[in-house]
Amino acid sequence: MLKYWVVVPTCLPLVLRRCHVCASEHFRASGKFRVNANHKLIDVWLLALCTACGETAKFTVLERMAVRSIRPELLDRLHDNDPGLTADLLQDPVVQSRNRIALDWNNAWRLDTGGSDHLDREVIDVSVRFAARIPVRPVRLIAEGCGLSRAEVERLITEGKLVSAVRLSGKLSSDFTFTLKR
Ligand SMILES: [Zn+2]
Repeated sequence: MLKYWVVVPTCLPLVLRRCHVCASEHFRASGKFRVNANHKLIDVWLLALCTACGETAKFTVLERMAVRSIRPELLDRLHDNDPGLTADLLQDPVVQSRNRIALDWNNAWRLDTGGSDHLDREVIDVSVRFAARIPVRPVRLIAEGCGLSRAEVERLITEGKLVSAVRLSGKLSSDFTFTLKR
Protein backbone atom coordinates (compact mmCIF):
# COMPACT_ATOMS: atom_id res chain seq x y z
CA MET A 1 0.00 0.00 0.00
CA LEU A 2 1.36 3.41 -1.02
CA LYS A 3 0.56 6.39 1.16
CA TYR A 4 1.27 10.07 0.67
CA TRP A 5 2.00 12.19 3.71
CA VAL A 6 2.51 15.93 3.70
CA VAL A 7 4.30 18.11 6.24
CA VAL A 8 2.26 21.29 6.17
CA PRO A 9 3.00 24.66 7.78
CA THR A 10 0.14 25.78 10.04
CA CYS A 11 1.45 29.27 10.76
CA LEU A 12 4.56 31.34 10.22
CA PRO A 13 7.67 30.07 11.98
CA LEU A 14 9.25 32.24 14.67
CA VAL A 15 12.51 34.00 13.87
CA LEU A 16 15.51 33.16 16.03
CA ARG A 17 17.27 36.40 16.87
CA ARG A 18 18.34 37.80 20.25
CA CYS A 19 16.40 40.88 21.31
CA HIS A 20 18.77 43.69 22.28
CA VAL A 21 16.23 45.03 24.79
CA CYS A 22 15.13 41.98 26.79
CA ALA A 23 17.44 39.15 25.56
CA SER A 24 14.50 37.03 24.39
CA GLU A 25 15.49 34.88 21.40
CA HIS A 26 12.28 34.89 19.39
CA PHE A 27 10.67 37.37 17.04
CA ARG A 28 7.35 37.00 15.28
CA ALA A 29 6.92 38.46 11.79
CA SER A 30 4.46 41.33 11.99
CA GLY A 31 3.23 40.68 8.46
CA LYS A 32 4.21 44.22 7.47
CA PHE A 33 6.98 45.57 5.29
CA ARG A 34 8.67 48.94 5.36
CA VAL A 35 9.43 50.30 1.93
CA ASN A 36 11.64 53.33 1.50
CA ALA A 37 11.97 54.59 -2.04
CA ASN A 38 14.48 57.37 -2.53
CA HIS A 39 14.74 58.67 -6.08
CA LYS A 40 15.52 55.59 -8.12
CA LEU A 41 16.64 53.37 -5.25
CA ILE A 42 14.54 51.29 -2.92
CA ASP A 43 15.09 49.68 0.48
CA VAL A 44 12.72 47.08 1.86
CA TRP A 45 12.59 45.58 5.35
CA LEU A 46 10.45 42.86 6.85
CA LEU A 47 9.23 43.92 10.29
CA ALA A 48 9.12 41.56 13.26
CA LEU A 49 8.24 41.96 16.92
CA CYS A 50 9.99 40.47 19.95
CA THR A 51 7.63 37.83 21.40
CA ALA A 52 8.53 38.94 24.95
CA CYS A 53 8.71 42.75 24.92
CA GLY A 54 7.31 43.77 21.54
CA GLU A 55 10.47 45.51 20.36
CA THR A 56 10.51 45.90 16.57
CA ALA A 57 13.29 44.38 14.46
CA LYS A 58 13.85 45.15 10.80
CA PHE A 59 15.20 42.43 8.53
CA THR A 60 16.67 43.61 5.26
CA VAL A 61 14.94 42.27 2.16
CA LEU A 62 16.24 44.66 -0.50
CA GLU A 63 19.03 47.15 -0.04
CA ARG A 64 19.49 50.13 -2.36
CA MET A 65 18.11 48.34 -5.37
CA ALA A 66 17.20 50.16 -8.57
CA VAL A 67 13.43 50.52 -8.50
CA ARG A 68 13.14 49.66 -12.17
CA SER A 69 14.95 46.36 -11.63
CA ILE A 70 12.17 45.13 -9.36
CA ARG A 71 9.19 43.29 -10.75
CA PRO A 72 6.00 45.41 -10.42
CA GLU A 73 4.23 42.33 -9.07
CA LEU A 74 6.70 42.19 -6.16
CA LEU A 75 6.22 45.90 -5.43
CA ASP A 76 2.45 45.37 -5.31
CA ARG A 77 2.83 42.49 -2.86
CA LEU A 78 5.16 44.58 -0.67
CA HIS A 79 2.75 47.52 -0.59
CA ASP A 80 -0.17 45.15 0.16
CA ASN A 81 1.78 43.48 3.03
CA ASP A 82 1.08 40.14 1.29
CA PRO A 83 1.13 37.37 3.96
CA GLY A 84 2.41 34.77 1.47
CA LEU A 85 5.34 37.04 0.67
CA THR A 86 6.27 37.19 4.37
CA ALA A 87 6.33 33.38 4.45
CA ASP A 88 8.42 33.18 1.27
CA LEU A 89 10.94 35.80 2.42
CA LEU A 90 11.39 34.26 5.88
CA GLN A 91 12.33 31.00 4.16
CA ASP A 92 14.61 32.65 1.61
CA PRO A 93 18.21 31.56 2.34
CA VAL A 94 19.51 34.93 1.06
CA VAL A 95 17.31 36.84 3.50
CA GLN A 96 18.27 34.47 6.31
CA SER A 97 22.02 34.77 5.79
CA ARG A 98 21.94 38.52 5.15
CA ASN A 99 20.15 39.07 8.48
CA ARG A 100 21.85 36.20 10.33
CA ILE A 101 18.53 34.71 11.33
CA ALA A 102 17.20 31.17 11.48
CA LEU A 103 13.65 29.88 11.84
CA ASP A 104 12.01 28.04 14.71
CA TRP A 105 9.32 25.74 13.30
CA ASN A 106 8.20 24.28 16.64
CA ASN A 107 4.39 24.15 16.80
CA ALA A 108 4.20 25.69 13.34
CA TRP A 109 3.52 22.56 11.27
CA ARG A 110 1.40 19.42 11.19
CA LEU A 111 1.57 16.05 9.49
CA ASP A 112 -1.27 15.25 7.09
CA THR A 113 -1.47 11.46 6.61
CA GLY A 114 -4.71 11.45 4.62
CA GLY A 115 -6.45 9.05 7.00
CA SER A 116 -5.49 6.09 9.18
CA ASP A 117 -6.30 3.18 6.84
CA HIS A 118 -2.59 2.26 6.75
CA LEU A 119 -2.28 1.50 10.44
CA ASP A 120 -3.29 -2.19 10.22
CA ARG A 121 -1.34 -3.00 7.03
CA GLU A 122 1.65 -5.31 7.20
CA VAL A 123 3.63 -3.42 4.60
CA ILE A 124 3.31 0.24 3.73
CA ASP A 125 5.31 2.50 1.47
CA VAL A 126 5.07 6.13 2.41
CA SER A 127 6.07 9.12 0.31
CA VAL A 128 6.59 12.17 2.52
CA ARG A 129 6.41 15.57 0.89
CA PHE A 130 7.39 18.85 2.56
CA ALA A 131 5.14 21.77 1.65
CA ALA A 132 7.87 24.02 3.11
CA ARG A 133 11.48 23.39 4.11
CA ILE A 134 10.63 22.49 7.70
CA PRO A 135 13.37 20.59 9.55
CA VAL A 136 11.72 17.56 11.16
CA ARG A 137 13.00 14.35 12.72
CA PRO A 138 11.77 11.45 10.52
CA VAL A 139 11.62 9.25 13.64
CA ARG A 140 9.15 11.66 15.20
CA LEU A 141 7.19 11.98 11.97
CA ILE A 142 6.90 8.22 11.48
CA ALA A 143 5.98 7.69 15.15
CA GLU A 144 3.18 10.23 14.86
CA GLY A 145 1.96 9.00 11.47
CA CYS A 146 1.99 5.31 12.40
CA GLY A 147 0.75 5.66 15.98
CA LEU A 148 4.01 4.29 17.41
CA SER A 149 6.33 5.50 20.14
CA ARG A 150 9.68 6.92 19.08
CA ALA A 151 11.38 3.98 20.83
CA GLU A 152 9.33 1.55 18.71
CA VAL A 153 10.33 3.40 15.54
CA GLU A 154 14.02 3.27 16.57
CA ARG A 155 13.67 -0.48 17.20
CA LEU A 156 12.04 -1.06 13.77
CA ILE A 157 14.97 0.79 12.14
CA THR A 158 17.49 -1.32 14.07
CA GLU A 159 15.66 -4.52 13.10
CA GLY A 160 15.65 -3.51 9.42
CA LYS A 161 11.86 -3.40 9.26
CA LEU A 162 11.82 0.31 8.58
CA VAL A 163 13.98 1.24 5.63
CA SER A 164 14.66 4.31 3.54
CA ALA A 165 17.20 5.60 1.03
CA VAL A 166 17.83 8.52 3.39
CA ARG A 167 19.17 8.46 6.94
CA LEU A 168 16.21 8.40 9.28
CA SER A 169 18.19 9.63 12.27
CA GLY A 170 18.81 13.37 12.51
CA LYS A 171 16.62 15.91 10.75
CA LEU A 172 15.29 16.23 7.22
CA SER A 173 13.54 19.05 5.42
CA SER A 174 13.09 17.60 1.97
CA ASP A 175 10.94 14.86 0.47
CA PHE A 176 11.74 11.22 1.23
CA THR A 177 10.13 7.81 1.14
CA PHE A 178 10.25 4.86 3.52
CA THR A 179 8.95 1.31 3.76
CA LEU A 180 7.60 -0.23 6.95
CA LYS A 181 7.20 -4.01 7.31
CA ARG A 182 5.61 -5.20 10.51
ZN1 LIG B 1 12.51 41.81 23.66
